Amino acid sequence: MNVAAGFQSLYGAAPDGVWAAPGRVNLIGEYTDFNDGFVLPLALPHTAVAAVARRDDGVLRLHSADVDGGVVQLDADTLEPLSGGGWAAYPAGVVWALREAGHPVTGADVHLSSTVPTGAGLSSSAALEVVTALALNDLFGLGLSRPELARLAQRAENAFVGVPCGIMDQMASACAMEGHALHLDTRDLSYRQVPFDPAAEGLTLLVVDTRVKHALGDGAYAERRAGCEAGARALGVRTLREIDAAHLPEALARLDDETVRRYVRHVVSDNARVERVVALLDAGDPRAVGPLLTEGHASLRDDLRVSCPELDLVVGAANAAGALGARMTGGGFGGSAVVLVGADRAEKVAAAVEKAFAAAGHTAPGVFPAVPSAGAHRL
Ligand code: ADP
Ligand code: MG
Repeated sequence: MNVAAGFQSLYGAAPDGVWAAPGRVNLIGEYTDFNDGFVLPLALPHTAVAAVARRDDGVLRLHSADVDGGVVQLDADTLEPLSGGGWAAYPAGVVWALREAGHPVTGADVHLSSTVPTGAGLSSSAALEVVTALALNDLFGLGLSRPELARLAQRAENAFVGVPCGIMDQMASACAMEGHALHLDTRDLSYRQVPFDPAAEGLTLLVVDTRVKHALGDGAYAERRAGCEAGARALGVRTLREIDAAHLPEALARLDDETVRRYVRHVVSDNARVERVVALLDAGDPRAVGPLLTEGHASLRDDLRVSCPELDLVVGAANAAGALGARMTGGGFGGSAVVLVGADRAEKVAAAVEKAFAAAGHTAPGVFPAVPSAGAHRL
């Protein structure tokens, strides 16, 4: 059943409108967004779709077609961070963040469904937040910009759901454009659409969902974040963004702590890799991006140490089978990898990765091509 029809049969009336917001995959620039750095995500064709009707009586009703359990009913006036628990905290957190910022959101009926795989590092959570934020922005005439909506969605996830994510996911979902990657400066949220259309260049960008999530990842994000902040303090800068890659050797020489040194080397070098990839895409040479992806993976594996055997296996097997390059994407410790490959070799590379997983006794991975797609929009 489509989402509007689902709304109608659930709530007994038609919605005021239907909105969509995509998941994302990050081409390069990992663990840079909390260091004021650069990232280069693209939106996936997979979207969260929400049918929404405005209410003016303070009632917030939330329903997901993809989750067992009925309608979650909340009072928009008394939402409390971390109170709801479960999936409803994502859309409820957006209502809370909008109201906290002084926007008069007086309730809504929401019915949603999503094709973004959950927990695969493809930001099903941001898709849920951004689709809710965009719908409420339209229905209540709030007039907020896409970056403002992304900020509020991030605040919902940080302060209401309790996940300390950066700003990349929400910005990608809110601002990405078909046939482009989003070159985002997370310091001021300025961005530029960089043409990137793999199919038109005879290339395929595969997403490989390892289908694993290691518990190790739970505290690791906060630990990496703290390590980067310690590095910035030791170097006398506000954030690691301020360290230019050309001055990395001097900066590293000033750091006593071996762990902090590795983290700094990753962040500064990955920021520089984003700029190099953007330059290659602008120059019309996307094939040359491949080796930078693999270099970025080595940095995440060896310096930041956020990879895992399954992700390393994807990168190793894909490159051995003739990919142009590959890297883990997202937070790591499982989740997904991206593989850039000539379109004529894509099937061979996908088969090689699947074979390597079977030989290692891992669950079969999910493999699909990432087609750079539109950011959030009203349907
Ligand atoms: P990711 O964002 O990488 O997919 P997260 O753990 O950040 O993983 O977010 C996944 C969570 O988002 C799910 O556990 C669920 O609470 C919520 N979610 C995502 N998609 C849906 C959906 N279609 N319906 C209900 N909840 C969803
Ligand atoms: Mg998420």
